[in-house]
Amino acid sequence: TYVERDADGNVVLEEERNRATRADAALRRIRDFDPVTGLPNRRRLLNDLPSWLRHTNQQTTLLMLRLDQQETLSGTVGLVALESLMAEAAARFEQHARENWQRPARLSDTRLVHIIPGIPETARISTIANDLLTSMRLPFYVEGKELSLSASIGIALAPQDGRNAEALIAAAESACRSAHEAGGNRFHFFSSELNAMALTKLGLQSELRRAMLHGQLELHYQPIVSGANHHICGVEALVRWNHPERGILLPEMFIEEVAQLGLSEELDRMILQQSCREACEWRDRHGSEITLSVNVSTRSFQFDGFPEMVRGILRETGLEPNRLELEIVESSALIDPGRALTTLDRLRAVGVRCALDDFGTGYSSLSHLRELPVDCIKIDRSFVDNVLTNPRDAAIVAATITLAHSLGLEVVVEGIETERQMQWFIRHEADRLQGFLFSAPVSRDELHRMLASREQWLARSNDGDMQGL
Ligand code: C2E
Ligand code: MG
Ligand code: MG
Repeated sequence: TYVERDADGNVVLEEERNRATRADAALRRIRDFDPVTGLPNRRRLLNDLPSWLRHTNQQTTLLMLRLDQQETLSGTVGLVALESLMAEAAARFEQHARENWQRPARLSDTRLVHIIPGIPETARISTIANDLLTSMRLPFYVEGKELSLSASIGIALAPQDGRNAEALIAAAESACRSAHEAGGNRFHFFSSELNAMALTKLGLQSELRRAMLHGQLELHYQPIVSGANHHICGVEALVRWNHPERGILLPEMFIEEVAQLGLSEELDRMILQQSCREACEWRDRHGSEITLSVNVSTRSFQFDGFPEMVRGILRETGLEPNRLELEIVESSALIDPGRALTTLDRLRAVGVRCALDDFGTGYSSLSHLRELPVDCIKIDRSFVDNVLTNPRDAAIVAATITLAHSLGLEVVVEGIETERQMQWFIRHEADRLQGFLFSAPVSRDELHRMLASREQWLARSNDGDMQGL
């Protein structure tokens, strides 16, 4: 064999040197790359980011993505399944990155990040983020089951949101959290100014009118289950804009614009007509006795002719009034309490039920409960997390439920994402529950399927059943 001597005259074998090189490469792979997704890992990211920042003269964009159902998933699918799911999500993420010259990495078990050198136009970043969200909404297949998931994305820009790696990551993290808290399946910029700009820059306003005319606004339905027996006892109609280029847009992307264009009443009318018609179909095809909940915009609620319009739509579609529940956000009832009282009375004379949506986020909520003639309150999602972690919040929510019951009101809780949250609210006798734990909003066809099979969501931990995720 070939023999070489080092400086001290020791013999070094060629083969040995090769082995050392290989071992070194393997070590670097283990050190710098995540074995599950094959993406650069946290260590590598924290190592590279400062040089990227220097290299780009601090002009860098960081996108952070997290699956909305992450918490529920870790409680329900096995570790191996969870990893293969993350690998699939990362593959979609990476493919996207390759098309867009971005640097993907896995920051932690649950968080993927992209670094985009430079700061593209806000509209361009929005498009990238939107495309990523769309790719995460394609079904995932895990353990032979199909899961529909969604993600939240936070976006931070250097230098304005953070000058070093740590600050930038923290900003993206906080934007990601706020996107998730706003309902998930959306992106938020760290800077609120850019958030507003993203909307107008997307040029949605000019397209909105056309979209309404061409039937691009469609309804999805989120099941609401009974706290007593876990059967679907209702659905909430939630509007989506099926945009030809941008994919499905959520209401927060356009509902403000609808109001600004003065189209709220028209939209509410369209949604009421369509959802009442579909509710009659559920009744006729599946004999189902579920309640339809429809959100009412502040504008419609203040429009004098609104109760008559509702009466007209019920007559025209043939839906029984007591099958319809109108959700009015607490704040629109508080603008002019005297008038709200009259409108609510008139609506109840039509025979529909009225609910106060986002309850707890308004001013002096409890004191108004006694005066407003409503049938039901929907406790806002923001309380759901806190009941498990904050004893003061837990006490307030528990007392609210008791008070509502003593006034003869039903209590609905929205935004239930974990088994523990569900158990807390069942223990405190919430009447109806809604949230990703049971089901995300689904299409009309998917709802038909659910009603046909009369799905029941018993505590899924009993049998590891993933239905409804
Ligand atoms: P909302 O009436 O409070 O609706 C509940 C929102 O929470 C929905 O978001 C729903 O997808 C989301 N959500 C449900 N479960 C969970 C969960 O477990 N976790 C999390 N993080 N979020 C959950 P979406 O569809 O984006 O709607 C947002 C808001 O837009 C609605 O809030 C409502 O105020 C408004 N909106 C939606 N559809 C309509 C509509 O047809 N007409 C009017 N006027 N407003 C609508
Ligand atoms: Mg609602
Ligand atoms: Mg709400």
